[in-house]
Amino acid sequence: MNATIKVDCARCGAVELPMADAQLVPFGPRGSTVVEFTCPVCAHLGRKELTERATLLLMHAGVGLTTASADGILDPDDSSSGEHR
Ligand SMILES: [Zn+2]
Repeated sequence: MNATIKVDCARCGAVELPMADAQLVPFGPRGSTVVEFTCPVCAHLGRKELTERATLLLMHAGVGLTTASADGILDPDDSSSGEHR
């Protein structure tokens, strides 16, 4: 499977993003989930707010949920250790 999602890059417009490059952030501006991505064309960091349904679809497809805040403070010890891929 080589699933992609459609996202909007601020520079390029609509681009197709490999799901492996997407990351869900559960603290969007209105309490919603946003997907954070690096544009595969120009490497610009972008965000897209998701509907609840889209969030479930992405999670089901294996997109990782990060516990980082929207400003990107990572806490690598937050999840159970020993689960690298
Ligand atoms: Zn771009």
